[in-house]
Amino acid sequence: MIALAIDHRNFTAAILDDGGDFISRVECPAPAGGYRDWLVAVCDLVAGLNGVSPHMHVAVAVPAIISGGNAEITPLANLAGADLRRDLQSALSREVFLTDFGAALTAFHAGISKTDKPLVALWIGSSCHGGLAANGGIVTGAHGAAVNWAHLQLPAPVPHELDGRPCWCGRNGCVETFLSTSGLEEDYERVTGDRLTAAQIATAASGNDIVAESVIQVFEDRLGRATATIISLIDPGTIILGGNTPMPERMCERVPRKWPGYVQIDRSNTRLTWCEAGHGALLRGAADLAAARRSG
Ligand SMILES: [Zn+2]
Repeated sequence: MIALAIDHRNFTAAILDDGGDFISRVECPAPAGGYRDWLVAVCDLVAGLNGVSPHMHVAVAVPAIISGGNAEITPLANLAGADLRRDLQSALSREVFLTDFGAALTAFHAGISKTDKPLVALWIGSSCHGGLAANGGIVTGAHGAAVNWAHLQLPAPVPHELDGRPCWCGRNGCVETFLSTSGLEEDYERVTGDRLTAAQIATAASGNDIVAESVIQVFEDRLGRATATIISLIDPGTIILGGNTPMPERMCERVPRKWPGYVQIDRSNTRLTWCEAGHGALLRGAADLAAARRSG
């Protein structure tokens, strides 16, 4: 199986064996240019994999809502309105299965944990995505949008959180505008006038940068509010944080302390943990979902 993850800033491709282990893996920056440039880059990336054979199918994880087998709603302007599945199949001359980041991350962890309690996986990167596993399967919803937490309004906003947060979806104040790498970077820039990457802000917070520390504390509080809403609705046994969550170990320690202030009953059985596999989790989860679809 070939697996591919198309993200805002980078593309990753891999070949996985039937056990889900990586045989080869390559990545490249997302090219400048438009949709056709992206298709060419994907073809080049797949061609660069060691061990490609003609019969292999392609599982693709994209930051999008997948409806009717295609990417319907996405923050990636290059993919908006495109018939991505058809065009990838044509460009690669292979059968293509599309899934979203939330479902792929969820499938990866549901396969590992074998939990019988609901599992929610939240991708925090340039954009945010969510997925749900329950009753032994992935729950995508009636429109492919289950746990589309990115475009909920940030819960319990304080006055300065109510304005000035336009989102690509056309609304204002979506969770994604706060709880994403770009949201964190903009918070830091608002205070300091300097633009650092999310990783640089996390490093600064670990040192003596009190502004970075305060920005991370605000991020923690917002993540506490957002995850408390998910807990109130779904009551999961586990919430996984994936992607580029800043200071993930610290988040998993501190965010649950916020929950009692925002939920109505004891939720101490809900565990918050984080995913170290990065885009590898998306590749493996997408491959698992594609294999399940083919065998089902
Ligand atoms: Zn939005």
